[in-house]
Amino acid sequence: MFPWRLKYIPEQVMLRIMCTGNGLILEINDLKVAIDRVNFGSYDFHFITHAHTDHLPRQIRGKLITSQETKELIKVRNKGVKENLHEVSFLEPVNSGHILGSRALLVKENKLLYTSDVNPRDRLFMKGFKPIQVDTLIIEGTYGKKNFVFGETGKLIDEILSYTFKLLSEGRNIVALGYSLGKGQILTRLFSWCSDLIVDNEVAHFNEVYERFGVYLGKYLRYTEASREGLFKERSWVFVTHREGLAKRIAKQYEAKIIRFTGWVCQSRNKRQSREIYGFPLSDHADFYDLVNIVRETQPSRVYIAYGFSNELAAYLRELGFDAHLLPRNQKIEL
Ligand SMILES: [Zn+2]
Repeated sequence: MFPWRLKYIPEQVMLRIMCTGNGLILEINDLKVAIDRVNFGSYDFHFITHAHTDHLPRQIRGKLITSQETKELIKVRNKGVKENLHEVSFLEPVNSGHILGSRALLVKENKLLYTSDVNPRDRLFMKGFKPIQVDTLIIEGTYGKKNFVFGETGKLIDEILSYTFKLLSEGRNIVALGYSLGKGQILTRLFSWCSDLIVDNEVAHFNEVYERFGVYLGKYLRYTEASREGLFKERSWVFVTHREGLAKRIAKQYEAKIIRFTGWVCQSRNKRQSREIYGFPLSDHADFYDLVNIVRETQPSRVYIAYGFSNELAAYLRELGFDAHLLPRNQKIEL
């Protein structure tokens, strides 16, 4: 019998995990599963959690398990995915709330959960990750440090809207800077009330995939069309882009205000300075206390932090009484 035809994993199961950076190798008895960026070896399955480039391998190294949305988003990156999608009963992809189609990996029967990039917050069209009780949790720690606190999402969006509305009312222009996939679509929707909304071409490519999967993003003009039609010479427009250099050039040429939308703005010292100079902590990741709450709600007997501020988060979790560790690189761990 082929290993992927197994319906259930047997009682006596040996789970081993090895971290390769932004990828993991999971062994369930003799079955081998590559997760995200694993660029060597061959595996029974290759599980891709989401379509951000830092998680994508150069090639798929086993039977592909991912969401249809992720497969379509990978295509936009000119990485043809010819493989068919597979399902296996004991590896369950669950919504991780990060970007369209993003999935955490649950090994049944709740033995292990790997969150990958995760966000538990419902926001605009995105549904947040819902914690599940598991034996072992492997969680990300991108913002696993106490100064990364984003505040309540509704309040944050209120602040963004009133701040940007004021700027536009005064005839100012806005360059909204954020990643092209995930943040780009949140920003497109967030500014859909603006009559002159321009989005960078790459953002528009990803927007189309979101729209194909039923996400309404409103009306916008692509960067090339807006440039051709001279829209940047008008007043009170919003331009959504991921390109820092272009953002600076456009801002200088058309006296626009650059606003960054990322959790990293929390690194600055005070809130006003942060908003004026940098922007808003609107993120597709969990903030520090979101991560802690995910751990609390999953009630794991052991937690590993895969990447990010692993030491800081592990130390805080240990203070709370959890058996928490950073996940060492290139070292096989038996669970
Ligand atoms: Zn990501």
